Amino acid sequence: MTDRLVTILGSTGSIGESTLEVLALHRDHYKVYALTAYSSLQRLAEQCIEWQPSVAVVPDEKAAATLAEYLKPHPLNLRIAIGEHALAMVAAEESVDTVVAAIVGAAGLLPTLAAANSGKKLLLANKEALVMSGDLLMKTAAQSGATVVPLDSEHNAMFQSLPGNCIGDAFGNTGVVKLHLTGSGGPFRGYSQEALSSVTLEQALVHPNWSMGPKITVDSATLMNKGLEVIEACHLFGATGDQIEVIIHPQSIVHSLISYADGSVLAQMGNPDMRTPIAHALAWPERMGSGVKPLDLVSLAKLEFEAPDWDNFPCLQLAFDAFAEGGTACTILNAANEVAVEAFLKEKIGFTAIPEVVINTRAGVLTETADDLETILNADATARQFAHTIVHRLIN
Ligand code: NAD
Ligand code: MG
Repeated sequence: MTDRLVTILGSTGSIGESTLEVLALHRDHYKVYALTAYSSLQRLAEQCIEWQPSVAVVPDEKAAATLAEYLKPHPLNLRIAIGEHALAMVAAEESVDTVVAAIVGAAGLLPTLAAANSGKKLLLANKEALVMSGDLLMKTAAQSGATVVPLDSEHNAMFQSLPGNCIGDAFGNTGVVKLHLTGSGGPFRGYSQEALSSVTLEQALVHPNWSMGPKITVDSATLMNKGLEVIEACHLFGATGDQIEVIIHPQSIVHSLISYADGSVLAQMGNPDMRTPIAHALAWPERMGSGVKPLDLVSLAKLEFEAPDWDNFPCLQLAFDAFAEGGTACTILNAANEVAVEAFLKEKIGFTAIPEVVINTRAGVLTETADDLETILNADATARQFAHTIVHRLIN
């Protein structure tokens, strides 16, 4: 394996930390160029001391001063850079081979696009960037020759089970007939609408199988995560909504499946641990260790599958509808959901208000053709503003 230089966008998050754990097993082959964080500056300082990157990116002057203070006793050859522009710079830096896009939410869009535009190997975890600007991001990557490898466990599973060259067009002359997207169903699987209306933030933040950041954990509980993943799969593999089946699989062992014309179904399995897709994507097209313990099917004994509960978890259908509508519909869906989840995380609104905010925002904000970045950023801003007014109305 040749030496690789990596930028990790969002290194202090759940995916960022798991990426560094995998890299720690392969220090001879990987060097870190840049690490970035929005908060958790003490943790970022510890990562800088361990990994000695060339650049660390933080949001503002105050954060830069705090990071510098933490690093005072440890003289490093490190440049501390500030803001969104710096994030895009470290994603596009010429000497960097691989960019791990692991910022949460729309904040990751510009650096992810910068990596796609610079022909990098782009390990994509930041699904919101793809949901809000799918056509643009995929077109940008194709034009620059960037290699997109999905990190999201389901999409990474599909990537592993599809024929080569599946990115952008998995259905062209391949015999692929369906993508089956699995999901655990989250902590509230089987709950009635009445039970859902009184669930707490604390309950929503405990995922049965995966340990993740707070935003995606709430998305998993509403099934919006599965909805965003439907849109993600459509863009990554050139699928339409009706070429995707969502299957609830509470054990999270089968990470997704592909049906072929001859009746064959190929699946990727493994313990629910993000280090597996991360190691796969980093090493691809080779393989390397991830530190994940081997799968023990006999002790698991049982794998279950069921249909999603569309009525009690309306976010899933909302995502299918937004993708079918096209244009900026998915940008609006994503923005409304980010605003609603943030309000839920601050305990301003209840759990069942999340889809309400999304439904009202989708109804109130007009969809446009989404050809360029400016239109997408405008739609994102308009939808956020609209969603905030709905949240205020719900509070008062
Ligand atoms: P997290 O909240 O644990 O970490 C997010 C990271 O982004 C942190 O480093 C944080 O400092 C940084 N960040 C947050 N806001 C920022 C901003 N405004 N500007 C710049 N940086 C900012 O999130 P996570 O669970 O690691 O998820 C990251 C992304 O990966 C999300 O898009 C999520 O949907 C996706 N993903 C996560 C998992 C998982 O297992 N955690 C699985 C699949 C996909
Ligand atoms: Mg996933």
